[in-house]
Amino acid sequence: MTTLSAAISDILDATIQLRQHIHAYPEPGFEEVETQARLIKEVRALGLEPVICGKTGLYVDLGDGQGPKIALRADIDCLRMTEGNHHLAYRSKKEGLAHMCGHDGHTASLMGALSVLSKVREKIKGTVRIFFQPAEEGPGGAPLMIEEGVLNDISEVYGMHNWPEAPLGELRTIPGPCMATVTTMSMSIHGKGGHGSQPQESIDPVLTAAHIITALQSIVSRNMHSKDAVVISVTMVHGGEATNVIPDKVDLGGTVRTLSDSLMDDVCERIEKVATATADAFGATVDIELFRKYPVLVNDPGCTETVKRVGREHFGAENVNEIKLPMLGAEDFAYYTQKTPGCFFFLGGGEEGRSNSMCHSTDYDFNDALLDPAIQFWVRLTEDRLKVKLFD
Ligand SMILES: [Zn+2]
Ligand SMILES: [Zn+2]
Repeated sequence: MTTLSAAISDILDATIQLRQHIHAYPEPGFEEVETQARLIKEVRALGLEPVICGKTGLYVDLGDGQGPKIALRADIDCLRMTEGNHHLAYRSKKEGLAHMCGHDGHTASLMGALSVLSKVREKIKGTVRIFFQPAEEGPGGAPLMIEEGVLNDISEVYGMHNWPEAPLGELRTIPGPCMATVTTMSMSIHGKGGHGSQPQESIDPVLTAAHIITALQSIVSRNMHSKDAVVISVTMVHGGEATNVIPDKVDLGGTVRTLSDSLMDDVCERIEKVATATADAFGATVDIELFRKYPVLVNDPGCTETVKRVGREHFGAENVNEIKLPMLGAEDFAYYTQKTPGCFFFLGGGEEGRSNSMCHSTDYDFNDALLDPAIQFWVRLTEDRLKVKLFD
């Protein structure tokens, strides 16, 4: 029986090249056409035939189809932002698009795992479905993948995110709520503009906006139980053109996060009431749009214990923890765990000598040193769930 580390070292250079290629040619949600074509090519080179799913996504099954069926997921889309990292040979070749969340690394490591597993495909009992999903950063590719059957007959689903803040080789996950549900908040406050010297003739939307911003901060501190994690951040204020003119309108924008979907209902209701009543007190009116994005990501306790156990066995007990979890970031993996028991976990990519900048910063770059442990983990998790020894 070959050792897993030998099997991985055979494909590691190709996996790094794949990662850097995807990094150089990023594509955003539902536009991952070249990425999908490249992944199809990689799958076919292994003598396998992928199933197209979720428009620009795909999946491939390995195994004899008897017994348990598990699914492993990677996201393939980039962010709509410009990469810093001018020193990188493989820096994004597309201005305004960049893999600043490391989905290039998620894709390459899962493709690496597929490559390693495909070499022992005749020994696999049960099914491991490996799938690549589009549009995680928005608008969300998971619902379409589910609609098109990616989780049909699947008993457990797993997903991984790199985490530069955690040291390389560290695994973090938590049972229950792990990541937040998000609501995007937009408001237009309508008043009556006029000369800056004669406020008595106007209805001032700037002053009204200031009061609404302040009043919104009372929701978390006065209406929510102190044990509940809730964030309301007003992040955009747009209004006015001249120092001596009171404008007709001010626009506000922001984000709302909670770790419970029903709590989000309550928070949204309070936002509507507080903003409407505050505007009314100043004689202004307000249009409010609350757009509910991804639900809470809830990890199944059994699947989470599995991930931790496999982590302890292969990375050491000292490298498995729940540090800084749950977090108020959001993930469309939440849709999968709504339907099928699963676990989303984080693998550290932080190393001395690297910037270790967090995902979504302009100088972030996926750490290629994480590819090997990530592939290892996917293979060991597959062995564990399908109860088959594939590698020494
Ligand atoms: Zn992201
Ligand atoms: Zn991400």
